Order: sequence, then structure tokens, then C-alpha cells
Amino acid sequence: MSINVNPHQQVVLASNNAGKVREMQSLLAAMGLEVLPQSELAIDSVAETGLSFVENAILKARHACRCSGLPAIADDSGLEVDALHGQPGIYSARYAEEAEGDQDSANNTKLLNRLTGLTQMDRRARYRCVLVFMRHHEDPTPIICQGTWEGRILHQPEGEGGFGYDPIFYVPETDCSAAQLSAEQKNSLSHRGRALQALIQQLQTYYPPVATA
Ligand code: IMP
Repeated sequence: MSINVNPHQQVVLASNNAGKVREMQSLLAAMGLEVLPQSELAIDSVAETGLSFVENAILKARHACRCSGLPAIADDSGLEVDALHGQPGIYSARYAEEAEGDQDSANNTKLLNRLTGLTQMDRRARYRCVLVFMRHHEDPTPIICQGTWEGRILHQPEGEGGFGYDPIFYVPETDCSAAQLSAEQKNSLSHRGRALQALIQQLQTYYPPVATA
């Protein structure tokens, strides 16, 4: 006998970031949920006006629920660098505000420049992820789960995988950059993978496993 969640349950993923959608879809699909990226429903992005990851994740999830009439999961995440007192933090996506071309590589270049001259010990950093699940746009009890991933900022980019700051994020457990990990390795270690595992546990309340023959 195997255990599965009702395969007809649809949930909107409130993100337009292709990298995040890829990572979360693979983990949630394993739970049997039909995960619809909000772009497939022509839902636009909402202004991230919060001052914390939690506030921004709630804004995104509520917006996706309101536009779709479906439950939604939203992620707000970012990179905290100790030497920069937690920057870029909630502003990670648009750290290099003036960027015209590839935003990710402009962000990485700006961060590397800010850390010029700092030794390995002074380059401590961590990714943070907050995931929010809301059943509807007025849900008074959203599920909120968090995950962190400790590492360091490298001196130059390494690797081609992942997205965002992954080429300059050194992962001590695997002695390489996050961009050098396979998707499975990253999911098992990352801030988002950890937050998602916690969320999946809690989602069992709403989508209890059903026995299949
Ligand atoms: P958000 O869409 O406002 O949550 O922006 C999150 C930003 O943080 C992304 O655009 C990336 O710059 C960065 N970020 C978050 N998670 C990751 C990750 O797993 N790898 C690399 N960068 C990430």
C-alpha cells in the first residue's frame, strides 16, 4: 500500500522567478499537489512593500489567492551577509538597482565589489527563505515556515547551475559553490528545501494523505 495526497488539489505558486518555481515544483509535485505557477494564470507580481520576509511572503500569497480563487504558496527569500549587517536581505532580487542586463550577474558583481579585501572568515553569509501557505485571501491563520542555509561568499563566481547568488555562495558541506550542486543536492540542503519540508509536514492538515491500493 502506498500513501498519496489527492492528486486533483491545485495550488498556485506565487512566484515569477523561474529558478524558484523549478525548485518548488519538483518538491511539491512529490506530495501529489498540482502546482500552478502564477504566470500560467496571468497573475502579475505584487509590490513587495513589507519590511520583512514574512510580510512580503504574505503579500504575495494573498495576492495570488485573491486573483485565482485558489490556495497559494509564496516564497520570500534572500541573502544575508554578516559583514554588510545583513544586506542585501529583503532587497536581494534588485541589489544592483542600476542593472540593465542580467540582474543576477550585476547583483553578484556588486556584492563581490563590496567585499573586496575581506578574508574568508569575514565573508560569512546565509540564505533565508520564508514560505507562506494561505487557503484563501482572507485566511487569518496562514502557515508560515522558515529555512536557512549557512555559507560564505566566494572571491569569484564558480559553476553554472542554480540561479541568483548561487555562483558566489560557498557551501561548506559539499566544498563547492551552490551553482555546482545538482538540483537534488541543492533541494536537500537549501533554505528553500528546508522550509518546504517543514511546510509539507504542516500541509498534511489540509491535504491529508489518502491510502491507494
Ligand atoms: P524575492 O523574489 O523577492 O524573494 O527575491 C529573492 C532573491 O534572493 C532572488 O532574486 C535571488 O537574488 C536571491 N535568492 C533567493 N534564494 C536564492 C537561491 O536559492 N539561490 C540564489 N539566490 C537566491
